[in-house]
Parts: sequence; C-alpha cells; structure tokens
Amino acid sequence: MTVMPEQIIRLVKATNHFVLMTHVHPDGDALGSLLGLAEILESLGKRVFRYLEEPVSDLYCFLPGCELTSTDLGELADFVAAAHGDVASIALDCGDAERLGREQERLLAIRPLVVIDHHRGHRDFGDVYWVDPKRSSTGEMVYELVETLHVVPSTTSAFNLYVAIVTDTGLFRYENTTSRTMRIAAELLELGVRPEEATGLLYDNYSLQRLRLMEQVLATLELHAGEQLAAIRLTTVMLESCGATVGDAEGFIDYPRSLRTVKVAVLFKESDERAGSVSMRAKGECDVAQVAALFGGGGHRNAAGFRYVEMDHAQVRADLLLALQTSLERNAAEE
Ligand code: AMP
Ligand code: MN
Ligand code: MN
Repeated sequence: MTVMPEQIIRLVKATNHFVLMTHVHPDGDALGSLLGLAEILESLGKRVFRYLEEPVSDLYCFLPGCELTSTDLGELADFVAAAHGDVASIALDCGDAERLGREQERLLAIRPLVVIDHHRGHRDFGDVYWVDPKRSSTGEMVYELVETLHVVPSTTSAFNLYVAIVTDTGLFRYENTTSRTMRIAAELLELGVRPEEATGLLYDNYSLQRLRLMEQVLATLELHAGEQLAAIRLTTVMLESCGATVGDAEGFIDYPRSLRTVKVAVLFKESDERAGSVSMRAKGECDVAQVAALFGGGGHRNAAGFRYVEMDHAQVRADLLLALQTSLERNAAEE
C-alpha cells in the first residue's frame, strides 16, 4: 500500500478552486469519487468545477450532486479564468492521460494537476500523483484523503464514496476487497449511508430497454477453450431495436463471468460500423490487463478493456479470442 504524498494535502489546503475530472464513460467509482470529493472540498469553503465529457448516464443520475456536473467547456474556461491562478485540477480513477477523453489537452493545461488512481499499469501523468493498485477503488483513496484533512463527510458525500466502493468491488465480492475496504464501508454507514438505498438504486432500478437488450445480448453467448472462455456481444442493431444505449449494457459481463467453468469473460460492444469497445473480466490467474494492453487498452488484473476505431468487428473478436486462449494456455502450462 502506498502512502498519500504530503504534497497533495498541502496543495488541497492552499488552493481555493478545483477542477475535478475523471475517465470517459465514468463508472460508479469515477462518478462517486468525483462527486464525493467535490462536496467535501466545498465544505472546506473551496469552489469546485465538476467536469465531465458527457452528461451522467441514466444508470447513475441518482447520485447526489450529479446535476452539478458540467460538460460546458466555456463554463470551464470561465471558472479557471476567475480563479486568477488560485486553481488546481484533480483527475480521479483515470489510468492514463488518454482516458481523460477528447479534451485531454485542454484539461492537462489546468495545473497543478493532482492524480489519484488505483489502476494497475497506470501511466503517470500530472504533477503530483498518488497511485495505488492495492486499493479497491478511488473512492477508498478519497476517503483516506478526507480523513487526513480531518473533514467529516456529509451523508451525501459518504453515499457517493460508498457507491464508488460498492461498484468497484462488485458488492464486496472481488479480490480487491480488503479488511480496510470493509472498515471504510462501515464508517460510511456510520455517517448515515443506507446500504439498501445505495444498492437498490444501483441494481434494482433498471429500464425495460435494458432488460430487453440483455435478452438479445445473452442469446449471443459463445464458449471457447473448453468452456473457460465465454463471450457475448452487443451490436448497434440490437441497441436500435431496444431503444437502448451502450451504457445500458453495464453489468452484462457478470453473466458469462458467473459460469462455473469460466476463467475469462468478454463483452464486445459495437458503437459504430467500425468502432467499439471491449470489456474483459477474469477469475483467478489470467491477467486480462496484459491482454488489453496488446490492444491499446488497460485496466486491472481481473477487469480490463479497450476501445477500437476503424477496425472490423469480426476481426477484433477473432484476434482477441485468440490472444485470450493463448493466455489461458500459458497459465495452464505454468500451473
Ligand atoms: P469496463 O469493462 O469498461 O468496466 O472496464 C473495466 C476496467 O478496464 C476499467 O476499470 C478500466 O480500468 C479498464 N479499461 C476499460 N476500457 C479501457 C480503455 N479503453 N483503456 C484503458 N483501460 C480501460
Ligand atoms: Mn473507473
Ligand atoms: Mn476505479
């Protein structure tokens, strides 16, 4: 476990304006950390700009404070200008500068830039960084920052941090869940978070379109490598026929992953005729972050992904399945 750099605390104390940012297609950890930290900084009298490239997806619009996020680059520029140099930015849950999205150059120019992240294979960027792949989530790291600042989070910021931890640990199921994670979660409950409310809004709050899409996506299930490798796929035709968006597919990968024999699960998501993204989940020894890196992506040992453009979907599927089979065979040989 790494220690939080003193510099981060000094910078947070000394600065009055913050621009918070996270990775594109933000998940529960990205949004929960960003919204949780934003409110905490405001409770210290700071001004905060919650920047997102796209509006918050339907799945997360219940998060307290998500209406305060902005995708407006003009507003962002005005905020930075009005700070007269008394400004810093904080990138949360972002494994490399690329993942900040299409406005990365503009965002990277807001300095000093603090980076708080827990991705394995993190590629350093920014001026001060605290990166710890041993942490379950960025939410857990933000909680430690808050403790160090001697701030007692409000119930709403505690709720956001709880959502961050719950989503990145798969409801405290994955191996990234430590006794420390549980202790922090317990403290968040003591601050007034109701677990059934958080998980109800996360997992019992879906649209009918999503369920219809799931029917079609699960029907594509294919098994390879003696049933150790399971793949499902989502096409743009399916999205259109259900009136759903790619975001509605969040969590689908847990179904192929849940099969007894499966060691690696893959979800292929088409977003355009020749563009898409891929999610991978591993159980046990297979390192999907390493495989994702071969395709220009990254992530964690057990959860990784990549995006592609100008490529044939069928070719990407064939290449990835081959790479995963090779990785599984290599692991089997080492056992
Ligand atoms: P996802 O399957 O989209 O939930 O992604 C799982 C994990 O893979 C994320 O937490 C990221 O760390 C990582 N990841 C996904 N997509 C990319 C990408 N395009 N580049 C780098 N890392 C990614
Ligand atoms: Mn994330
Ligand atoms: Mn995360």
